[in-house]
Amino acid sequence: MNKDYDVIIIGAGPGGIFSAFELKDSGLKVAVFEAGNELSKRKCTIDGKKVKNCINCKTGSIMSGFGGAGAFSDGKYNITNDFGGSLYEHIGRETALELMKYVDGINVRHGGEGTKLYSTSGSKFNKICMQNKLKLLNASVRHLGTDINYKVLENLYNELKEKVDFYFNTPVKEIKKTDDGFIVNADKEYSSRYCIVSVGRSGSKWMEKISHELNIPTTSSRVDIGVRVELDAHIFEHLTDELYESKIVYRTEKFEDNVRTFCMNPRGIVVTENTNGIVTVNGHSFESEEKKTGNTNFALLVSKHFSEPFKDSNGYGESIARLSNMLGGGVIVQRFGDLVRGRRSTEKRIEEGTVIPTLKATPGDLSLVLPKRILDGIIEMIYALDKVAPGTANDDTLLYGVEVKFYNMEVETDNNLETVNKGMFVIGDGSGVTHSLSHASASGVYVARYIMKQVALSK
Ligand SMILES: Cc1cc2nc3c(=O)[nH]c(=O)nc-3n(C[C@H](O)[C@H](O)[C@H](O)COP(=O)(O)OP(=O)(O)OC[C@H]3O[C@@H](n4cnc5c(N)ncnc54)[C@H](O)[C@@H]3O)c2cc1C
Repeated sequence: MNKDYDVIIIGAGPGGIFSAFELKDSGLKVAVFEAGNELSKRKCTIDGKKVKNCINCKTGSIMSGFGGAGAFSDGKYNITNDFGGSLYEHIGRETALELMKYVDGINVRHGGEGTKLYSTSGSKFNKICMQNKLKLLNASVRHLGTDINYKVLENLYNELKEKVDFYFNTPVKEIKKTDDGFIVNADKEYSSRYCIVSVGRSGSKWMEKISHELNIPTTSSRVDIGVRVELDAHIFEHLTDELYESKIVYRTEKFEDNVRTFCMNPRGIVVTENTNGIVTVNGHSFESEEKKTGNTNFALLVSKHFSEPFKDSNGYGESIARLSNMLGGGVIVQRFGDLVRGRRSTEKRIEEGTVIPTLKATPGDLSLVLPKRILDGIIEMIYALDKVAPGTANDDTLLYGVEVKFYNMEVETDNNLETVNKGMFVIGDGSGVTHSLSHASASGVYVARYIMKQVALSK
């Protein structure tokens, strides 16, 4: 029976985009279904000036549409197996790195030329961190910046739309397995031989439903909880000028938990993020000079891994975020000096401080929100960081809470990211295997190439 498409891709985030990009000249008929808008119609209201916080738009432009959750991101493509996902566990370390570099090449040729590639390799900070019980993770980082990242996506879309059918504002409701392929139910039914599911974090609930319907096993056990630190950019500039984003891990003395820096935004802004009505904190930075601020921000996160019988790791993270929303009406901000003195911050104390907050948050007391074990770990790490970046533990350093990094459940796939339903692949953050732009994109390329090989073999 003739099918509508050879390959249907669900989700136009980095995973789906790079699958489509790899398939576009294969001669295969490819369609992409996306719940959100095309790029030019995605408008995030946060501009860092008039609108600093997420106002929970109806369209959910931050997470959905061409470009996925990455469209308005800082566009930091980390080329590494040390963080950003465990794709290497499926496809091997070498292949994973090769594909991340391949993606980087495509980005550079589509508007990213001239952007900087930072690297930890040979950095003096490896030794300085080691001497202070910190570990600098190994990575090369292409920093596109929010503005160039958008331009790259625009260029990729212009090339793709000539060869691939896009269905925007068309969420897929259901996938049915047939004898020789799949029926994808969106605005109507479409048939295909192969199906690539790349629905990211915003599609996690749907992914859970589909996995259940198609008998695909899943597991969920991790959530990262912490705060966003904001300080004068000078304090971290020796690190950020050389490395841009330094991923540093500290093992706490008290509980032997790992605390890590995450999503560093030199001269950036702190923003809020609204996921299903729960307000958490995040950060942005900009490539263009006029949007830069005098502050640097980064998250300090503690990973919580739960074992049986507890299964709802994301629910645990949500409950803590809800508690901060209950006390602060949103995000809470506290001076580090107030936290260690065991007192809440007030408008007056924040105003008198030397760090001017880039986010309007409610002054309060994070010790009423974060579990002691997590808070102790964060405080220990701030003192450890103070040794490599003196001034981190200043009284006026601001801590915003809470930052929660939710992880998708892991969907069971084989080493080729293929599910028990042959021909159906789950890639990107929706698979639970990746948590980053570069890993998600690389997983898209890998599966596209694998499908092309299968098609060639079947001829
Ligand atoms: C504010 C922010 C900043 C970030 N900054 C960085 C960064 O600098 N570096 C980095 O490595 N990572 C960053 N990330 C994470 C990064 O964006 C993700 O890891 C990446 O986008 C994952 O790609 P993906 O394709 O798997 O999923 P997504 O990008 O989430 O895309 C999934 C797409 O699927 C669509 N979809 C969902 N369900 C359906 C359905 N049923 N039918 C049709 N379509 C559906 C969604 O609308 C979405 O467009 C950031 C994330 C955010 C939110």
